[in-house]
Amino acid sequence: MTSDQSKEKKSLRQWEIEPPQMPHQEAKTRITNFDEVNLGYSEEHVMHEATRCMACKNPTCVAGCPVEIDINRFLEAVRNKDYRAAIRTIKEKNSLPAICGRVCPQEIQCQKGCILSKKGYPIEIGRIERFLADWEREHGVELPELPKPTGRCVAIVGSGPAGLTAAGDLALLGHEVTVFESLHEPGGVLVYGIPEFRLPKSIVKAEVDYLKRLGVTFQLNAFIGQLYTLDDLFEKGFDAILLASGAGLPNFLRIPGVNLVGTYSSNEFLTRVNLMRAYQFPDYDTPIIRGKTVAVIGGGNAAMDSARTSLRLGASKVCIVYRRSENEMPVRREEYHHAKEEGVEFKFLTQPIELLGDDQERVTTLRCIQNCLGEPDESGRCRPEPIDGSEFEFPVDTVIFAIGQRPEVPDGFGLDITAGRLIEVDTYTFDTSREGVFAAGDAVNGTSSLISAIASGRKGAVALDRFLEGSGNIDEKLAPQSEPEKCLGPGEGFATMNRHEVSCILPRERLESFCAVAGDMEEEAADYESKRCLQCDLRLKITPVKFWGNY
Ligand SMILES: Cc1cc2nc3c(=O)[nH]c(=O)nc-3n(C[C@H](O)[C@H](O)[C@H](O)COP(=O)(O)OP(=O)(O)OC[C@H]3O[C@@H](n4cnc5c(N)ncnc54)[C@H](O)[C@@H]3O)c2cc1C
Ligand code: SF4
Ligand code: SF4
Repeated sequence: MTSDQSKEKKSLRQWEIEPPQMPHQEAKTRITNFDEVNLGYSEEHVMHEATRCMACKNPTCVAGCPVEIDINRFLEAVRNKDYRAAIRTIKEKNSLPAICGRVCPQEIQCQKGCILSKKGYPIEIGRIERFLADWEREHGVELPELPKPTGRCVAIVGSGPAGLTAAGDLALLGHEVTVFESLHEPGGVLVYGIPEFRLPKSIVKAEVDYLKRLGVTFQLNAFIGQLYTLDDLFEKGFDAILLASGAGLPNFLRIPGVNLVGTYSSNEFLTRVNLMRAYQFPDYDTPIIRGKTVAVIGGGNAAMDSARTSLRLGASKVCIVYRRSENEMPVRREEYHHAKEEGVEFKFLTQPIELLGDDQERVTTLRCIQNCLGEPDESGRCRPEPIDGSEFEFPVDTVIFAIGQRPEVPDGFGLDITAGRLIEVDTYTFDTSREGVFAAGDAVNGTSSLISAIASGRKGAVALDRFLEGSGNIDEKLAPQSEPEKCLGPGEGFATMNRHEVSCILPRERLESFCAVAGDMEEEAADYESKRCLQCDLRLKITPVKFWGNY
């Protein structure tokens, strides 16, 4: 950073300082390849963001992260250029940071919680997390000390983020862990769903290799329910089973024409391209129809991934058809912007009603109806309502349905299933209806997010370990904690500091307008208030005094 930039930075308040842009491949280049779009922050970018952080006493960012990473502590380590301590702090709670740093929906999680987001730019927590994980991969991933084996064997069904996380946690508790995966590569959605240009497969492979170093065994091409039943697994000597089988069964619209040639579920389309490398045909033996005019139905990550993949396969026109408005789209915002830059078109408030085909049963036309937004439904989002007489159609040669997925639970499992076809578990113990069988991730919660699956995998591992008479303690302290202040009130005159009063507009003015009554707190005032904090948790942190009788 130049001295001018540094002066400018000091004259602005932290939330007004723009974070560095993520270096990326330009749109017109990237639609010609499958390489990663985002190139990652440099050390200078990371330091810029870490120094912008206000090191809040009560870091609201942490509550936004489903696994509650100690964000303040890892940013402190970054400021001290101790990247090893920073990544260890993250790994105390999240074993897949290179993946989360890339694809977590940070804008609605940790970064939404960041205090700076209330007025301006939040700290780019995810990008720093990605930098640290990549730094660790380049500088060598340290293996923690392995515990004494407990002699207990655990089977995990499914190798997505929930299964991988639980496998790591259970291996570190000393259990012998085998992961059964129906596909020929481990990683779940991370390898078959999310495309290479968002999440390189080499990163998922590195995480799987790390688990193998911890002693976890992977059995691939093993569909539990067909190859082995749950009874078989118990008979083979497994003491407990964790089902982390995800939600891989695609939903389709119930409209005429969904079976025409040229229609796909996003699951099938993405699996062919990502896992089976159809984009490298004929080097890889997987055929795929390379559509020229593609419509993708849906507004989530799978829809955006399918649309952007179609462009890279050579489509000249790709259109997302979404029944609600732009604001309701559940996609990560960055992916939406990238898709728009790449030339994906959007038809909002549009509902498909029929697919028409030619005499060879190939799809040729998508018929739709225009919607308007009505009252909010049970999800809290406005319900789309069709407008009579607004039907229209446009030509297509490929239609991809990306309207959600649900779990596929083999009947032979003999488990209780909810009305929504999810595996039913006790919310506290993660027990299913069969003793010794636990479940976690999307199979229990429905399609959610990567980090929610990780959080659920951790809870499942705790429950399963307790069932095996372990402590269920997966809390690790991999990096040093900062020393607490050992005095009551860090500043001079602490005992006489009065509360800072926020200025309010006069009662008369209040009655005449709907303006906020209380003004905002300035940075200096916030700093003053934080110094009045009593550090009530201090007595939990300082070493107890030893009296004579204790020696
Ligand atoms: C295309 C797409 C893009 C996404 N993008 C994002 C994103 O950007 N950010 C985000 O946070 N979330 C995203 N998600 C959601 C996120 O990836 C999932 O919520 C998460 O992967 C769920 O993890 P899981 O471990 O529960 O299941 P999964 O990842 O689905 O893994 C389950 C695994 O179990 C295997 N399996 C299933 N049944 C059996 C069986 N009977 N025997 C053996 N193995 C079995 C499956 O083959 C699979 O490998 C996306 C989802 C999709 C589909
Ligand atoms: S895991 Fe995801 S939500 Fe948590 S701090 Fe990292 S990027 Fe944010
Ligand atoms: S809330 Fe934002 S500013 Fe405060 S510690 Fe967390 S990242 Fe830093």
